[in-house]
Amino acid sequence: MDNSIIKKPLYNRIILKISGEIFQVYDICKIDVKILKSISQEIKRLVNIGIQIGIVIGGGNIIRGSMSKNINISKVTADNMGILATIMNGLVLRDILNNLSIKTCLMSATKTNSMCEDYNLEKVLDCFNNKKVVIFSGGIGHPFFTTDTAACLRAIETQSDVVLKATKVNGIYSSDPEQCCNAIKYRRLSYSYVIKKEFKVMDLTAFILARDHNVPICIFNMYDIGVLYKIVMGQKIGTMVGALNK
Ligand code: UDP
Repeated sequence: MDNSIIKKPLYNRIILKISGEIFQVYDICKIDVKILKSISQEIKRLVNIGIQIGIVIGGGNIIRGSMSKNINISKVTADNMGILATIMNGLVLRDILNNLSIKTCLMSATKTNSMCEDYNLEKVLDCFNNKKVVIFSGGIGHPFFTTDTAACLRAIETQSDVVLKATKVNGIYSSDPEQCCNAIKYRRLSYSYVIKKEFKVMDLTAFILARDHNVPICIFNMYDIGVLYKIVMGQKIGTMVGALNK
C-alpha cells in the first residue's frame, strides 16, 4: 500500500486556482463548459467529504493584460477587461456548480451590482461554515495584478491550508518537458528557489506573498482524473512550493 495515502484529509480549507487556459476553446464564448463540468464533479467530491473550498477563477481564456499591445489599447484597459473576463467565467462556473446541487456563492472584488456578491471576508467564512463553495472573481480588483496573486491573497485572508494551482502540466520542471527529454520534475521547491529562478508557472508577486505568509502552493495537472481528491487526501502529486531550505 502507498504510505503517502492517509485516511483523513490533509487539508480542511483550500483555495483552488483555475486558470482560463484550462477551459479555453477557440469558438463561441471561449469557455470549454465540458472541462468546467468535469472540474465541478471533482469539486463536488471534496464538498462531500467536508472540505471548505474557495475557487479563484482566471480570465486568460478571454483576455490578459499582456495582450494590450497586440490590440493597441492601454494596459489598464486590457487589465480591466481581464478582470471582467474573470467575472464572466465565474458566472459560468457558478451555474455549473449549482446545476450539480453544490451550494455556491459568487463574489467579485469589483462592484457588479446584482451580478454577484461583493467580496466580504466575513461572508466568505460564513459560506465556508455553511458548506458553500465560494468563487472569487475579479482578481484583487485592480489592474496590474493577476488572479495568481488573488489566490494567494485569499488564502492568507481566509487562513486556508494550501493554494492548489491547477495547470496543464503536472508540476514545475527544470526545463520545458515538451522540448527537453532530460527535463526533471521537482517534487518540492522552496519559495526562495522559485523566486530566484522566476519560473513562469505563477507570477512573482504571488510567490512572494505566499512566502511572506507561509502559504504552501501545490502545482498540478487539472486534467488528471480524481486529482483534487488525491491531493487533499495526501498523495504527493505535482510540485509543492513551501518553506524549505533549498
Ligand atoms: N487582472 C487584473 N487584476 C487582477 C486580476 C486579473 O488586472 O487582480 C487582469 C490581468 O490583465 C490578467 C487578466 O485579468 O492578465 C486575467 O487574469 P489572469 O491572467 O490571472 O487569468 P489566468 O491566466 O489565470 O486565466
